[in-house]
Amino acid sequence: MDYEAVIGLEVHTQLLTRSKMFCGCANDFGGEPNTRVCPICLGYPGVLPVVNREAVRKTLVAGLMCGCEVTGVSTFDRKNYFYPDMPKDYQISQFDRPLCRGGGILLGGSGFSGDPLEERTVRLTRMHLEEDTGKLTHLGRASAVDFNRAGLPLLEIVTEPDMRTADEAHAFLTELKQLMQYADVSTCDMEKGQMRCDVNVSVRPRGQETLGEKVEIKNLNSFRAVHRALCYEIGRQADELDRGGRVLQETRGWDDAAGVTFPQRIKEEAHDYRYFREPDLMPLETTAESAREIAALLPEAPRHRRQRLVRVLGLTGYDAAVLTSDKALADYYERAAAASPDPKAVANWMITEMMGALSAAGIGLADCPVAAESLGELVSLVAAGSISGKQAKGVFGEMFRTGRGPGAIVAAQGLSQVSDTDAIGEYAAAAIAANPDAVAQYRAGRERALQYLVGQVLRLSRGKANPRLAVEQLRRRLGPQEGES
Ligand code: ADP
Ligand code: ZN
Ligand code: MG
Repeated sequence: MDYEAVIGLEVHTQLLTRSKMFCGCANDFGGEPNTRVCPICLGYPGVLPVVNREAVRKTLVAGLMCGCEVTGVSTFDRKNYFYPDMPKDYQISQFDRPLCRGGGILLGGSGFSGDPLEERTVRLTRMHLEEDTGKLTHLGRASAVDFNRAGLPLLEIVTEPDMRTADEAHAFLTELKQLMQYADVSTCDMEKGQMRCDVNVSVRPRGQETLGEKVEIKNLNSFRAVHRALCYEIGRQADELDRGGRVLQETRGWDDAAGVTFPQRIKEEAHDYRYFREPDLMPLETTAESAREIAALLPEAPRHRRQRLVRVLGLTGYDAAVLTSDKALADYYERAAAASPDPKAVANWMITEMMGALSAAGIGLADCPVAAESLGELVSLVAAGSISGKQAKGVFGEMFRTGRGPGAIVAAQGLSQVSDTDAIGEYAAAAIAANPDAVAQYRAGRERALQYLVGQVLRLSRGKANPRLAVEQLRRRLGPQEGES
């Protein structure tokens, strides 16, 4: 039987704010357990939450980046359940009036960062704001809880069941992460738990309209785990149906080491969270005017930036995808490209030399000793024939070690390539006079003899002659080869 998978994602990302969602405690990763807490995020009776405006603004930014509807009234609600990582026994979330609805993320086609994919829009159901819970650590028969994370602003993004393959789910997450990073909404670092993903997946015979029973896989902590878990789970469900069985609607976990999903709990009668309005918080109203103000300040979307780099600067799709994978990298690249006549050459330098040097030194772009403008200048020197490509690599190494500009290094090392035809002509004449054998071989039609003579010109000029001009001058002086008319 030929089955088709149907996938919907629920993604949580921590927002980049200075303080927590409803109190003044710091929003920072790590810290000694229970040091970033106060009566509000510990849920003491009688305290009052205060909405973090920056978290609301960033949620709207995220929504507008994805084309969501953001205007109107939005409310906070209490989601009631008991779990020891949640001090209040309810989580302040948004139930029926989220900040953002609708919208979507376009995958595939031109301007897409991943492997070639058919163009597809993954529609978003909603985006809403809630507070994070604390973190439990299980210590044998007891557990410890750290409330530093409790109350951090959390953006939840829910998609429609619009993805069909593990690759598409992976591509969606990659694109979403880039959008969030570009807009400075979240760092989406999965290793630090700043982005978490629950995956919903069902299968159905290809061609069937109705959706199959879905399984929810909880707490996947890397994109790779999402991809692997989906591949496994799609296969498992298809096998189950092939054997004449049925898929149970349940929550499953993912065992990364074994590469399998396993049952966690059967979905009981829809969990009753007894949602009701948070009585301590006023509804939020987003007017068309404030939405316009935020929209006017949105950054260029990564997809548009990739398309522009290809169309306007002549980069390949691959170059553009690498350079826009990170906004800071793309900004650096564009500053460097503006300082040079050859944007494609700057891209090559960035992707090979620069990224290589950074990873060898184990540092990030933020600590890069080479200014973007200096990299552009270096490429300009090569384009103008002032130094050779080979010399430029040495100069780059020196720039990376010392942080000095290329002009100063070239001058100090006396590297400037000789592009003066008169001077090169003299070296060529001297090389011809000193090497009659090579000259005779060249005239007899042996190209290799010319390489030897070029080598002599380079030696005489102590490596500074522009090799292309050396070939020109030698050919002019050597005259026609045998067999040439
Ligand atoms: P629940 O009530 O179980 O939370 P929702 O309808 O709210 O289910 O959907 C949660 C997520 O599951 C959404 O991302 C949605 O797109 C996805 N989803 C819903 N039904 C299916 C299905 N049959 N197969 C795969 N994904 C689904
Ligand atoms: Zn607090
Ligand atoms: Mg739901």
